[in-house]
Amino acid sequence: MNLLNNIRVVLVEPIFGGNIGSVCRAMNNNGITDLAIVKPRSTTDWDDARKLSCNAKAQLEARKEFQSLEEAVADCTVVAGTSARTGFYRDTAYSPKEFAPLGLESAKDHKIALVFGREDKGLFNEELALCTHIIQIPSSELYTSLNLSHAVYLCCYEMFSTSGAFQPSEESADEAPTELRERMFDLWRDMMVETEFVHDQKLDHMMMGLRRIFNRGKLTVPDCKILMGLAKQSLWVADQWEKEKENRK
Ligand code: SAH
Repeated sequence: MNLLNNIRVVLVEPIFGGNIGSVCRAMNNNGITDLAIVKPRSTTDWDDARKLSCNAKAQLEARKEFQSLEEAVADCTVVAGTSARTGFYRDTAYSPKEFAPLGLESAKDHKIALVFGREDKGLFNEELALCTHIIQIPSSELYTSLNLSHAVYLCCYEMFSTSGAFQPSEESADEAPTELRERMFDLWRDMMVETEFVHDQKLDHMMMGLRRIFNRGKLTVPDCKILMGLAKQSLWVADQWEKEKENRK
């Protein structure tokens, strides 16, 4: 079951259509699709909303509208209000990262809500009173208040990444076994000698350095083959160079 389907984003009286569109995009980027708007304004620029939603227009059209926050979250268990300000009972605020596992636990069986306030006045105290949790996004004292859609993005992102919905692609190539690694190191040793990169006294020291560098990350079979190809080619060039020197004598 997809927990993200149980997360509703609620915007309370948003002012700018552009922000509403950007919110739709931010939600879509993070696999969240349930959008509710409380008391949409008659002055909303819906053209701007459509423009900024980009490929999330369907999401914008599918929004639900309510006349009060209480109605918008009536079916939600956890209701997380977001605020940049301290005071009220905001002192016990969670960061989005701290809140994510708590919210997702409830989203296993219930609808939950993330509630965002007006661009100018935020959420009123009576609206925060309806919330079971407060989320405050850590930000610099220089300017603590984020753009509405940025705040939505961060909260949705934490829910998305904590839910495990995104699996980063893993290295698919096989890791190189010792036998292949050692054949590669032998070729590099020969290459360093034949190209006169190092002299005998320094060779072991240089080989240890190389081992340290190559073992810093996971060395795969294709990695080894590239490194071996480079060494073989260098050996061939060194051989040609030797022959030229002989011919010139
Ligand atoms: N001047 C308003 C700012 C509102 S910004 C105020 O002081 O409340 C619009 C909305 O974005 C806020 O209501 C909140 O939902 C969200 N938001 C902005 N910055 C935030 C932050 N640092 N932490 C949590 N939510 C934030």
